Amino acid sequence: MDSEILSHGAFSLAPLAMIRLDLKRTRNLVADRKISLDGDQCYDNASVCALTNSVDILDLNGAAHSIVSLDGKAPPERVSHVIPEQLQKPFAKGLVALLHGKSFSMAGTVKSADGMDFPAQITGWIDARPGGSDVVMIGITKLDQPRDSEKAAILGDLAHAARIAMLGEMTASISHEVNQPLGSIVTSAEAGLRWLNHETPNLAEVRALLERIVASGRRAADIISSLKGLARNTKPERDAVDVAGLIDEAVMILRSDLNRRQIALRLEICRDLPPVWIDRTQILQVIVNLVTNAAQAMADGQAWNRTLAIRARESPQGVVLEVEDSGPGVDPKVRERLFESFYTTKTTGTGMGLAICRSIVEAHGSEIELQSSQYLGARFSFALGNEPNARDTI
Ligand code: ADP
Repeated sequence: MDSEILSHGAFSLAPLAMIRLDLKRTRNLVADRKISLDGDQCYDNASVCALTNSVDILDLNGAAHSIVSLDGKAPPERVSHVIPEQLQKPFAKGLVALLHGKSFSMAGTVKSADGMDFPAQITGWIDARPGGSDVVMIGITKLDQPRDSEKAAILGDLAHAARIAMLGEMTASISHEVNQPLGSIVTSAEAGLRWLNHETPNLAEVRALLERIVASGRRAADIISSLKGLARNTKPERDAVDVAGLIDEAVMILRSDLNRRQIALRLEICRDLPPVWIDRTQILQVIVNLVTNAAQAMADGQAWNRTLAIRARESPQGVVLEVEDSGPGVDPKVRERLFESFYTTKTTGTGMGLAICRSIVEAHGSEIELQSSQYLGARFSFALGNEPNARDTI
C-alpha cells in the first residue's frame, strides 16, 4: 500500500470493499489482440483468461481484506481468485470498458477467502486521483447484508459518480459534434447582419444565409438524436445511401474551413458505387470528424504540402472509404490511445472525435483502420456494407 492510499482515510476506512487495480498490462494485451468493447467474438475463453490474469492488484482497503483475504491478511494475488469463473467474461468486458473510460456495474457472486461464494454487486470505475489513467477501482458490496445508512450513502455516491462519468462523456460528445454546425450558424448570421446593414440590403444573400442557418440547425438536431441512439446502444437506423452524395455533403460542410487553411482537396470517388446501408447522419459525422482531424494535423505543415484525399471504392464488403492527409502522421505513442475517450494531444481538443468515430463504425459492424507514416501522413479507412443486414456480413 502506498502512502497516498494510507493518507486517504476514505479509502482505507470505507465500509465498501474496494480493490485498486493497475490495468497497464491489460491495456497492452487489448492492443496486441485487438480486443474491442462490443466485439463479442473477442471474448473467447483464452482471451477472458488472459484479460483477468493481466490485472495487477495494487491494494485493498480494510473491508475488501476482510471479505477476500486469507486469514484477513494475505491479499489475493490474482483477480481470478476473487471473481468466480461464470463471472469472468462480463468482468473481462468490464475491464475493457474501464480502458475506454467507462464505468461498469454487475451483479453476481464473489469468492471469499474461505472458498464460499456470496452474492454481490461489483462496480468498476476509474480512480480519479493521481497515479495514471490505468489505475482503476473495483467496489464489492455483499447483497445479502443489510446496508446501514453509511453503506447506502457510499453506494449512492458511486452510482452518482458513474452517472456523472457517463454524463461527462455524453456532454463532451455533444459539444464536440455540434461545435461545427453552431460555428457555422454564428458565422452565417453575422454575415447576414452585415448584408442587412448595407445601404441597400442584399436580400438574396440574406435569404441564402438564412437557408444555411436552417440547414446547420437541423444538422445539429440530427447529430444530437443520433448521439442519443449511440449512447443507448440502439442499432443504427439504416437506409440505402449514395456514398458520393454523402462525401459531397461533408465537403460542403467543411469547404470554408479547408479553404481558410489552404488545403488542397482531392476527391477520388469511383463511379457507379453501390448504395451502402448506413445511418446517414452518423457516417456523415465520421467523415466530418476524420476530415477535421486531417485538416488540423496539417495545420503546421508547409502550404505547398497540404493535401487531403477522400477516396471511395468498391470492395467485397461494400464500399471502402478513406481519408488521407499529408500531415506528420500519428505518433506511435499516440497510436495506442488514439480511440480512447478524452485522449487528445491538442491544447483545445476534447479527445472525443475518434472515440465517436469508432463507436459509430463498430455499430455498423465494421472497424476503422489506420495507416500512418511520418513522410506520407495518416490514412484512416473503413468499409461500409451494401446489404441491409450488413452488420452480420462484414
Ligand atoms: P481531438 O481532435 O479532440 O484531439 P480525437 O479523438 O479526434 O480528439 O483525436 C485524438 C488524437 O489523435 C489527436 O489529439 C491527435 O493527436 C491524433 N490524431 C487524430 N487524427 C490525426 C491525424 N489525421 N494525424 C495525426 N494525428 C491525428
